[in-house]
Amino acid sequence: MVKIGVLGLQGAIREHIRSVEASGAEGIVIKYKEQLDEIDGLILPGGESTTMRRLIDKYDFLDALKNFGQQGKPIFGTCAGLILLATDIVGQDHAHLALVDMKVERNAFGRQRESFEAAINIKGVAEDYEAVFIRAPYIAEVGPEVDVLATHNDKIVAAQQGHYLCSAFHPELTDDHRLTEYFVKMVER
Ligand code: GLN
Repeated sequence: MVKIGVLGLQGAIREHIRSVEASGAEGIVIKYKEQLDEIDGLILPGGESTTMRRLIDKYDFLDALKNFGQQGKPIFGTCAGLILLATDIVGQDHAHLALVDMKVERNAFGRQRESFEAAINIKGVAEDYEAVFIRAPYIAEVGPEVDVLATHNDKIVAAQQGHYLCSAFHPELTDDHRLTEYFVKMVER
């Protein structure tokens, strides 16, 4: 059974552990950078990317997280986690982990639509997926290595660059575990 860590600094941590376990892998909450050595893949959960970054710096996680990805270990960023992975953030001078060649816009679906559900088609994963968006970002631009997996209203909401997977929505909040299962299979390979 592969071991998948969920960065446990802030955000929807327990829900991801439940989804990982429902997908046939072992889920481990990661609170210290040393624990990254014990896992095969990592989920960066949703929450608030600026708060998460503050905690990443406080607990000296930044280089350890970058190294984890650069060693070729899979990372799945959801919502705020997707923002952490991006090389560019609209309106901000500095990115965070900068591992996925894409530009993201935060809180991008507007105020009236802070939180909503939408049926989307995720390439290679599910044609009829009910996605939960909460103050979600979208991906405004992608580099040549990035494969677009899903759009909603012509905005990119899921993408993959090699061993990095990202979703603007929250795959851990429903009982449809197909996207987490897809990530578990990436880790198994
Ligand atoms: N709006 C949040 C941010 O910018 C992300 C929201 C979420 O993760 N649900 O970090």
